[in-house]
Amino acid sequence: MSKRDYYEILGVSQDASEKEVKKAYKKLAMKYHPDRTQGDKSKEETFKEVKEAYEILNDDQKRAAYDQYGHAAFEQGGHGGGGGHGGGFGQDFGDIFGDIFGGGGGRGRQRQQRGSDLRYNVDLSLEDAVKGKSLEIKVPTYVSCEPCDGSGAKKGTSAKTCSTCHGHGQVQMRQGLFAVQQTCPTCSGKGKVITDKCTSCRGQGRVEKTKTLSVKIPAGVDTGDRIRLSGEGEAGEHGAPAGDLYVQVNVRDHEIFVRDENHLYCEVPISFVTAALGGDIEVPTLGGKVKLKVPKETQTGKMFRLRGKGVKSVRSSSTGDLMCKVVIETPVNLSGDQADLLRQLEEKMASSSKKHSPKESGFFDGVKKFFDDLKS
Ligand SMILES: [Zn+2]
Ligand SMILES: [Zn+2]
Repeated sequence: MSKRDYYEILGVSQDASEKEVKKAYKKLAMKYHPDRTQGDKSKEETFKEVKEAYEILNDDQKRAAYDQYGHAAFEQGGHGGGGGHGGGFGQDFGDIFGDIFGGGGGRGRQRQQRGSDLRYNVDLSLEDAVKGKSLEIKVPTYVSCEPCDGSGAKKGTSAKTCSTCHGHGQVQMRQGLFAVQQTCPTCSGKGKVITDKCTSCRGQGRVEKTKTLSVKIPAGVDTGDRIRLSGEGEAGEHGAPAGDLYVQVNVRDHEIFVRDENHLYCEVPISFVTAALGGDIEVPTLGGKVKLKVPKETQTGKMFRLRGKGVKSVRSSSTGDLMCKVVIETPVNLSGDQADLLRQLEEKMASSSKKHSPKESGFFDGVKKFFDDLKS
């Protein structure tokens, strides 16, 4: 039987790239794959041809040999010796069909399943979040069973190699032309079976228990941060490694401060006299009270920045600032005398040639223009 040219079979040129070869193969394989051709013998032959061509052209060394010697390169134990070993489909088959047919090709032996990760929510005050804190937490979880040391087998016995899969965890099933790997039904892929189960854990290798852990919350954490305690999650079954425990941080609202990343914000009420004449006020910080100099003629809503009085970042060495917004308070419960003094003050300011209300004059100019515009 004279063989067709491999390039011709795949319908690609001699200088086709690896990608083009792969693409051509996928296309043809989709068309001629026995799963799709329902036992049509001639298509099955074409499929074998396509596959052989691909095996050669997808391998740099084999392709080079083929380019030089043609089919002779692979006959009578020649170079490489790859092509045409009957119905036995090679390894690369698995990986390429894995993505064409969506099957789980080439997954290999099933690994032992690691225990689940756990999440533990912790509510902190802003002070604790900023300064850091050591906590004791109680977590209901699975821990490795002590009597059997996590193996699930009764003390003095041990799990035996599964006789169905001989410890591989997978068995081969034949489906027509194909050998399909399946998880072993006897041992569920673990490769071992327990004949004498441990009575404490009923063969699971782990038991439910509330674990007490100490957690060190680092200074500077914020809502949404999480701390991973490696290996403190649930123990896996049959001695498999444990999962991790994530401590999820939530910082409660604070009476005075609002946090935004590493900056803190607060509002400080001041009297209108201090605002007008200037003076020292006390403002709260997380480290205690500090003095803040309010300059004269300070307007309400003015923000003062206190550098470095915010939160020290948990991720870097930088520290945020504290932003103090001063809010001028209107005096209440004035006595007659006090009210009189204010009226006198107002009259004096009105008769003075200087402007005392910077916003007001601008505001009324605006209002006047607004009404003039309405009229026209
Ligand atoms: Zn046990
Ligand atoms: Zn098995």
